[in-house]
Amino acid sequence: MNLSSIITLNEKSVQNNIDFLKKKLGKNVKISAVVKANAYGHGIEHIVPLFEKHGIDHYSVFYYSEAVRVLNSLSGHSTIMIMGWISDENIKDAIENGFEFFVFNIERLQVALENAKKLKIKAKIHLEAETGMNRSGLNAKVLNEAISMIIENKEFFEVVGFCTHLAGPESISNHLRIQKQIKKYQKMLFVLKANDIIPKYRHVANSAASFVYPKTRFDLVRIGIMIYGFWSSTETFIHYINNKRDKTDPLKRILGWNSQIMSIKEIKSGEFVSYGISYLAQTDIRTALIPIGYASGYSRSLSNKGRVLIRGQRCGVIGVVNMNMIIADITNVPDVEIGDEVVIIGKQGDLEIKVSAFSDISDMLNYEVLTHLPASLTRKILLNQ
Ligand SMILES: *Cc1c(COP(=O)(O)O)cnc(C)c1O
Repeated sequence: MNLSSIITLNEKSVQNNIDFLKKKLGKNVKISAVVKANAYGHGIEHIVPLFEKHGIDHYSVFYYSEAVRVLNSLSGHSTIMIMGWISDENIKDAIENGFEFFVFNIERLQVALENAKKLKIKAKIHLEAETGMNRSGLNAKVLNEAISMIIENKEFFEVVGFCTHLAGPESISNHLRIQKQIKKYQKMLFVLKANDIIPKYRHVANSAASFVYPKTRFDLVRIGIMIYGFWSSTETFIHYINNKRDKTDPLKRILGWNSQIMSIKEIKSGEFVSYGISYLAQTDIRTALIPIGYASGYSRSLSNKGRVLIRGQRCGVIGVVNMNMIIADITNVPDVEIGDEVVIIGKQGDLEIKVSAFSDISDMLNYEVLTHLPASLTRKILLNQ
């Protein structure tokens, strides 16, 4: 391997997760794969063709620029939905490209109308309701304004969706807040119907809500973290396996991250290792230098805490995480050589370093660990044989 480190994407896991989600969610619920934040660090250009191959034809992104990347990664036709930022200048291109987008305030609706008029084509919109997250979305009053504007300009709008976002369905402590949001959503949906606006997709649920609150599935679910093989939280997983006889995790991680040993050193007892005085060798030790660091997405908070796999054994990261390097203690692993594979995330032999282990010790969400993986790292797809 010429590369200092490489991210692998396992096609079998992609297939496993999509099959699982489709089976559990049923035929009547459309799955939109959320591929924002460079597909949760997996790489849009790599993951979209894999998702497409295994039956996904609906994609959600945050930025207009991500929508363009998804479009360029597809070989057939799929729906692309922008949930967040589009500059006013890009609205025209968004409509022309057939991208669907969230309308979360009246200004967005106005800009969409102006551009749709100029282009003489319908803007495909999803009206986003403010139901209690207090982040983005139309409240009851603004929804009424939007409805009037849409009715007056019927030939320029296709209301594809009516949606909202829940404020933390992965945690039981938010239960009451979530219930309130669902009620409010249904009330606003009724207003829409009373005005003869019947969207194709009513959508509310992310990964956690799809499983913890099945009634929020409606016509479409926006699945991010689970399609990559992770549960939104431990609670969500426990909720799922609670009544099941089989307690094994039905999801499989797609992503692995490997590096290799760059150099090996013997350190005498009493010496400090790496910058400063955070690690003092208490005995004679042997260390392996690994060419990844915080610039490659390996958080500094893993200093003296992280673990890597070398020759099938768990080795501790000692000293502080540097910009481009970490040091692992290999004293107890025999026969280690320069060039040996180092697993940062994933399996080696019988052991596995999970992103969750990573996030537990560094106080980061697994979402955070994944999205910090730089786009510049090389990604390699491990195809189904
Ligand atoms: C990110 C996002 C999702 C996906 O959330 P997961 O927890 O990863 O499934 C769904 N909806 C919206 C609006 C989002 O921003």
